[in-house]
Amino acid sequence: MDHVPPERRSFIMRMVKTADTRPELTVRKLLHNLGFRFRLRNKRLPGTPDVVLSKWRAIVLIHGCFWHRHERCRKATIPKTKRAYWLKKFKANVRRDSIVTERLHALGWRVCIVWQCELDDLERLSGRLASFITKGRKVQKARRSPLQKTPIRSSPKARKSDTGGNASRIALAPHR
Ligand SMILES: [Zn+2]
Repeated sequence: MDHVPPERRSFIMRMVKTADTRPELTVRKLLHNLGFRFRLRNKRLPGTPDVVLSKWRAIVLIHGCFWHRHERCRKATIPKTKRAYWLKKFKANVRRDSIVTERLHALGWRVCIVWQCELDDLERLSGRLASFITKGRKVQKARRSPLQKTPIRSSPKARKSDTGGNASRIALAPHR
């Protein structure tokens, strides 16, 4: 990116920080297709995680290989000019990432990091995500089935027809 004019570069850097970058969108679609429901960019959690699956106590962070320094990845290049500047910046990014992960772990969250280059093989990534997420125990207080959108107690009629009064049993049923 060292050939990019400074003003353009800062624009690109802002874009990188913005929500809905393409890799993040792809991962969200993937999770959605797998039947998982999640919250986006939860500001109450350390590092404002991209994807939060409360029911599974799982967090998915989508990392660009260049910015977050994916080890032994061909996308994690070092620009030839202003080398010291970049190295310092990368070091700070990596340090921040590890602090964020540590804090999330301390709060009882499981953290899965998806690297940008993993999006080259979506089938493999789907498998990895599904097994990571379902490896954890589903949180019991979630009283909805994965596909149910309306709250269980919306109306007496809905309660009867949707759940037959077995809300807790449904919530604990294996996912898929
Ligand atoms: Zn990579």
